[in-house]
Amino acid sequence: MRWGVVGALLLAMALCVEALAATAPLVRVSRSSALTEADAITAVRGSRAWQPAGTTIRRGPDTRWWRIDIDAGPAPDTGLWIVAIREAYDAQLVAYAPPDYRPRPLATFDPAMRQIGSRQRLTVPVPAAALDQPVFVEVLRSRAQPMGVEAQPVQAFLAADYARVRFSSAVLSAQLLLAIVAAIFAVALRRWMLLLFCVWVLSAAAYLVVMSGEVVPLAPWLPPEQAMRVAGLGISLGLLSAYGFFFVLLRVRTHFPRIARVYRIMLLGCAALLVILPFIPVNVVVPHVVNVLLLLLGALTLGMGLARALAGDREALYFLVGWGLVSAVAMMRAVYFLREAGTPEWLGYLHPAADALAALILVMATARAARYAEREMVSARHSAMTDPLTGLPNRAQLDAGVAGRLQAADGTEAPLAVLFVDLDHFKQVNDRFGHDVGDACLQAMAGILRRHVRASDLVARYGGEEFVLVLDGASAASALRAADALRAAVEADGRAVGARTVGLTVSIGVATRRAGDDVATLFKRADDALYRAKREGRNRVVLDAEDPVRPHPEPA
Ligand code: GH3
Ligand code: MG
Ligand code: MG
Repeated sequence: MRWGVVGALLLAMALCVEALAATAPLVRVSRSSALTEADAITAVRGSRAWQPAGTTIRRGPDTRWWRIDIDAGPAPDTGLWIVAIREAYDAQLVAYAPPDYRPRPLATFDPAMRQIGSRQRLTVPVPAAALDQPVFVEVLRSRAQPMGVEAQPVQAFLAADYARVRFSSAVLSAQLLLAIVAAIFAVALRRWMLLLFCVWVLSAAAYLVVMSGEVVPLAPWLPPEQAMRVAGLGISLGLLSAYGFFFVLLRVRTHFPRIARVYRIMLLGCAALLVILPFIPVNVVVPHVVNVLLLLLGALTLGMGLARALAGDREALYFLVGWGLVSAVAMMRAVYFLREAGTPEWLGYLHPAADALAALILVMATARAARYAEREMVSARHSAMTDPLTGLPNRAQLDAGVAGRLQAADGTEAPLAVLFVDLDHFKQVNDRFGHDVGDACLQAMAGILRRHVRASDLVARYGGEEFVLVLDGASAASALRAADALRAAVEADGRAVGARTVGLTVSIGVATRRAGDDVATLFKRADDALYRAKREGRNRVVLDAEDPVRPHPEPA
């Protein structure tokens, strides 16, 4: 079922891709293999050796000269048209446009280049009246990626160009905002892995700035031939940071301990290679090794994310949606590049949008993970301090609470009383009615104790069938009154527990704080008093023998 939906979505996406890619071309591009040595444009124009090449200019043997014919329709506009070249990266071109065919150098990262529109495309103006004559392009340098060619009236081109610039500015703002939010999260929640996430978001933003050519006005000192290298290095560093982030987000160490080691070695190896990369002159091997490592890490991460998502891990699901989107777009780009088709216009929008959307989804995933970790920590802290059977504070919490109170009362006259409460003959209750009834008795006992303490008092299960009450501000006399009220309540309410007549009673030892008491000495006196209460016949309250006040309430 799940896979059916995924398959249907992929099919729909493929159909959309084909439909969008199949828009009618306005330009016809052809190439000449006969004129590799041509140095005069007249020789080019005179040649008949042009082979049709679709709508892209691309690298290959003997592909220095390209010819662009424009199908402007029967009645072309008056005014100016723009021939635009997309995905030029750091290509170096010279365009010759009618009517004068003067050479016009085109290179995205060349600060000296002057052209109509932003640097997202390389542009050549052609007067409408000269549209029947071809434009020639000489390729001095290019990448393997094909460069798409389009032609439009200047107004339409500028409107579209402005929309593209506005879009990339919006995406850039979103990315910077998300990076800031993630940095604040990182510091506030002490989730340092979010800084890795920041590096990825910022590298994606930097890539956008470089690839749109906006880096030229921002950093005119950057040598044009270095711009792509910087972008490539940035994106590798970004990917590496993203994988480091996913390592933590997907808790690889816990869920995939065997893969975790390999993964870490690959990450560190890749990072080391990236560090030395700028210092290696021109090297053909290292960048390929980096790319292969990044691809492997990508596949491994997606695989682990998928496995965790299928196991019901919500963070992994977020990861899969966010990073799946980024990976899908990267794959689509790769397919277009491999087909030498030039990527379609919409992919130019989808690519940065997917990065920004993924960043948003991943910030949400981290926020969720942080919230859950916090909740888990609170609940772990709570269970470490609570007795699971009765829900009362346990001995650890009691000791800490009493120590705090003694410290606060130290050097003052503030009274404080401790009651050690122990069920009488409880072993017999267990033996007669079974352990379950014994447990129910302990729970009933906890209920009675809760009803007898004020908000300022402490009550805890000290262990077994022993409970401790700490009455803040209680003198020996008032502690004895409270203890006897409790003893009487247990005798009355503990007659029956559930359907059983168990006849619970308690013995209580009482001690009050003295100067210089610590938890151990105070508890020892209360425990001694309890021991005496047991010895004197149970179901009674006994005050610490050394206490100056010594009224002995008799059992009811
Ligand atoms: P005394 O009046 O001298 O205190 O006699 P007692 O039988 O209450 O004391 P003893 O220390 O001999 O036995 C305590 C019993 O409490 C033994 C044990 O089975 C029972 N007990 C301790 N913890 C639990 C518990 O969590 N659940 C149940 N059902 N019984 C418990
Ligand atoms: Mg007992
Ligand atoms: Mg006991």
